[in-house]
Parts: sequence; structure tokens; C-alpha cells
Amino acid sequence: MRKWNFNPGPATLPLKVLERLKEDTLELPNLGMSILEISHRSKEFEAILNDTKKLYQELLGFSEEYETIFLGGGASLQFAMIPMNFLKGGTADYVVTGSWAKKALKEAKLLGNPKIAATTEEEQFTRLPREEEINYSKDARYIHFTSNNTIYGTQWHKYPKTPEGIPVFCDMSSDILSRKFDTSKFSLIYAGAQKNLGPAGVTLITMKKNLLNEGAENLPTMLSYKTHFQENSLYNTPPVYAIYVVKLVLEWVKEIGGLEEIEKRNNKKAELIYGMMDKYPDYYKGTVKDKDSRSFMNVTFRMVTEDLEAKFIKEASQVGFHGLKGHRSVGGIRVSMYNALEPEGIEKLCEFMEDFKKKN
Ligand SMILES: *Cc1c(COP(=O)(O)O)cnc(C)c1O
Repeated sequence: MRKWNFNPGPATLPLKVLERLKEDTLELPNLGMSILEISHRSKEFEAILNDTKKLYQELLGFSEEYETIFLGGGASLQFAMIPMNFLKGGTADYVVTGSWAKKALKEAKLLGNPKIAATTEEEQFTRLPREEEINYSKDARYIHFTSNNTIYGTQWHKYPKTPEGIPVFCDMSSDILSRKFDTSKFSLIYAGAQKNLGPAGVTLITMKKNLLNEGAENLPTMLSYKTHFQENSLYNTPPVYAIYVVKLVLEWVKEIGGLEEIEKRNNKKAELIYGMMDKYPDYYKGTVKDKDSRSFMNVTFRMVTEDLEAKFIKEASQVGFHGLKGHRSVGGIRVSMYNALEPEGIEKLCEFMEDFKKKN
């Protein structure tokens, strides 16, 4: 039996995509070869790559000014590639809202003098900074945000204002494609695929093309954005299979109604589970202080004792709910409910929560 999979990443994929992969992994239609066996330089693969890029940009509503590349190395490699290409020994503003943002900052520190524009670390990242708490520097080469804090369960629902003329970069690994937003506010958006877009192994980076002119020179070839944009992600062998799966996931998104429908589904899931937590706030104790900062992707709560949490996870697993254990730095329970998780999974989980509360 297929479990309800609340893994934080790699995460659940649409069943339709998995079924399609079963066939295409043996043979791509009319090609007599598996997707795993064809050349990355074949016209068939180049078409797959270009279609994936086009559909991604179309679904998210990027204008012609933007271009997307596909790289290995995870979002974590982008933590380093961004300062390598754009910091150029200067400063940048980092809004530090969780562990991933801290890791991004750490890399920038190795390459220049980034500043912390705001952080809520003293409050264990249980909320996002308020607009008036963010201090931008005049000479920042860019501003860096993390849209959804996968571990702490917070998410920007309205991005704070940033100063005119400074490019805004964002790590959207854990909420990309989960809702509509104004892409034109960002100059660079990156996302590892393994939460909302597909399997592990590929990261999508979308950038305003004119930003490339400002990139550092004399970088190692593989670490320069220019290489990959100029070569359409084909400088070396890209993660062919992962890109193909992303294409199928994007087609699934389009088929069910695009971002509009995805957002509706995600809102519904959030309403259900936060509704349950708000019904029993002393039993399912949300770790996020500010209701406006609650993540629609990763829902975190603690229970009265660790023993009770362990019992919750164990009994949930016995009835087919997988991946609910919170990250070790927060503890408790984390319900990751990315795009591919059907709303029915959250309905069922809420029934279980109601029942568990009654019995315990
Ligand atoms: C998971 C995650 C990452 C790390 O991605 P890797 O692909 O493992 O490098 C980075 N940022 C955020 C927000 C994430 O959720």
C-alpha cells in the first residue's frame, strides 16, 4: 500500500508521474531507448531540456528577461556560487531566518563581507523579522532571502520592501511553485528540485539575463554562471534523468490547473491542519509564534512530552503516515505537505490527530 508521505525532502511525487516514469525508464515513446540511455547532446534531450525550461518559466510567470539553468550540487552549491559570482569582495545583505539561510551566509563570509540585515535567531527562528527590523546596507551587491524555512516552519507570505536598485535573490527550494507571486521582484531565484519540483539531483536557477554582465571574471569554468547560461546547461553532462522527472512534474501541475489550482490545494491543506492545531493549542503546540509567518509547506508542532510525541509518530506510522518526525534542531512533529501531497492526506491526518487526542 502506498503510504501518505510527509517527508521533508526528497519528498512525495505525484503518482501519475511515477507511473509514467515506469514506462519511460524502459523506453521513451518511439525511441527504442530509455531516457537514462540517450545522449545529453541528442536532439531528443535538448527538446526535453528546452520544454522543461519553457514550462517552468511559463507556470511561474517569468518574463522574457529571465533565463533558467539546471545544475547539480544542490541548493547548497548555490550558497557558494552566488557570492562567488556576485559578491566580488564586497558586501551583501542576508536576511537570516533559519538553518539554510545561515548556511548561505556562511559561504558568503568565505568570499567577502556580507552583513546580516536581520535575524530572529535569538528567538530560535520562531518568527520572521518584521519589515522595520530589517536594516539594508547602501552598498549591498544583492539581498538574499529564504522564502520558506523548511526546518522551522516559517514562510514569507508577503515579502518585505527592499531598496530600489539592489537585486534581490531568493532560495525557494522548499516552496517554489506552491503559490503565485510576483517574480519580477527577484533577480535570481534558485531551488533544489527535491521538495516541490521533482527528485534530488538538479537545482533550477532563474536569473535576469542582464545580471550576467555583472558576474565575476576568472572563475573556475564550472563555477561561473556565465558558462551554464551561455551553454544552455549543456557545458557538461547535466542531470538528465532528474530534469526529465521535473518536466513530468511540471506537466502534472499544468494538467491539474497550474499555479492557481496548486495554490488552492495548498491553502486548503494549511487551513485544515492549522485549524486542527488551533482547536487544541495546548495539545498540538505550534512552534511558530506569529500566525502570519506559518509555513504552508512545513508545519511544525510540539506535544506535551517527548514520550507522547514518540507515541504519536509510532502510531501514525502504523496506520500509513510516514515522515512526521521533526528536524532534530526543533524536535516534535513536522508535517511536510508539498505540492504533490494530495489534500486527502491532510484530511486523513487530521482525523488521526482528532482521534489521538481523544485517546491520549
Ligand atoms: C532542502 C533545502 C536546501 C538544501 O538543498 P540541497 O539540495 O540539499 O543542497 C536549501 N535551502 C532550503 C530552503 C531547503 O529547504
